[in-house]
Amino acid sequence: MSSLPLLDPSVDHALQLIVTGASTEETCTTDLAAGPWDFDTRPGYGPGSSMGDVIPTGAPRQGELPAAYRDASEEDLEARIRTAKQALGDRVVVLGHFYQREEVVRHADYVGDSFQLAQAALDRPEAEAIVFCGVHFMAETADLLSRPDQAVILPNLAAGCSMADMADIDQVEDCWEQLADVYGPLDVPDAEGRVPVVPVTYMNSSAAIKGFVGRHGGIVCTSSNARTVLEWAFTRGRRVLFFPDQHLGRNTAKAMGVPLERMPLWNPRKALGGSTAEQLEDARVLLWHGFCSVHRRFTTAQIDQARAEHPGVRVIVHPECPMEVVDAADEAGSTAYIRRAIEEATEPTTFAIGTEINLVRRLAAQHPQHEIFCLDPVVCPCSTMYRIHPGYLAWALEELVAGRTVNRISVAADVAEPARVALERMLAAKPEAASA
Ligand code: SF4
Repeated sequence: MSSLPLLDPSVDHALQLIVTGASTEETCTTDLAAGPWDFDTRPGYGPGSSMGDVIPTGAPRQGELPAAYRDASEEDLEARIRTAKQALGDRVVVLGHFYQREEVVRHADYVGDSFQLAQAALDRPEAEAIVFCGVHFMAETADLLSRPDQAVILPNLAAGCSMADMADIDQVEDCWEQLADVYGPLDVPDAEGRVPVVPVTYMNSSAAIKGFVGRHGGIVCTSSNARTVLEWAFTRGRRVLFFPDQHLGRNTAKAMGVPLERMPLWNPRKALGGSTAEQLEDARVLLWHGFCSVHRRFTTAQIDQARAEHPGVRVIVHPECPMEVVDAADEAGSTAYIRRAIEEATEPTTFAIGTEINLVRRLAAQHPQHEIFCLDPVVCPCSTMYRIHPGYLAWALEELVAGRTVNRISVAADVAEPARVALERMLAAKPEAASA
């Protein structure tokens, strides 16, 4: 495995070099070199890691971006974004997720994981608009935590999250009804004071799912506090229903000593999720059949190769990776954990990282004293994060300068109230939480 060229951390530039034949690196698809507006009106998530996933009907689509932005050069967009931000001053705060492209992240006032960014917005109460360069569920979370008069803007409405989309509220409600048929009334505690099942949702889920969890005595977790949250849930319930990411649920519960045979998968397309009533009775954790297509790309073969080619390499992967990959790595942790581990390494170290390529390349550029490379040798960013192009950011900001708010994300009050309850339970379980 060869390490990446580090002088330019931009994944966009790497893709252009691949497409023009100036680089021998591989990409999962050369379509990535096109503007995301080419895909906004087509079905699917667009090119990148999630291109094979099925997008739900009714997923938000983006209207056409004006040609002035589609046709603008990178330099022009850069200048327009800076000028618009300057004109808006403290009236706007731009948030950039770790997985965003470099051309967007450089304009962010805060860079972090989803929960860090939602909390960062709280530090800027004077901002009338929060421009969230991330994906849909993150903008919803920012809306839940911000003041009602602050507008949260997602520059491209087609920036969803394929994993969050795998837990649809109707499917989850249906699952809950089926579980009630097996376990009896779900809100009645046993002699030890525990209900049959407590729902736990990963931060990477829609506000509707967070609201469901809040209404049913459940809680939200992040990839940093999943263990603390599961412990919280097990004191209140005999079982946990964990969604949408089966891998985070499995990796966390396994580390807590839950046997794999007591963690059946819940496939929403099958009766009883594909298990028997006896298996559900015996279950400790019901794992929703969801996954992240970025983190599913990592394999134990990649780890073996990294170890063979880089003796002494430190392998750190995200807990959204499959269990065998987490087991084969030296460490597993959230994006915040990965970043901290690299920052705190005092000796020059070789790191093989199993998470999204934009973050890995940025870390490599920021820490030239270390050798840092992505375990996956193929340049294949998160399809949905990639939908936020500087053209959309320039458009959203210039519209604000003109007094217009586009792409506002608002969570309905009847969903927001229980969703906040679920988030507050998480904060009470572990105040310094961080997420994917
Ligand atoms: S990296 Fe995975 S979980 Fe994160 S936004 Fe992309 S698809 Fe969703």
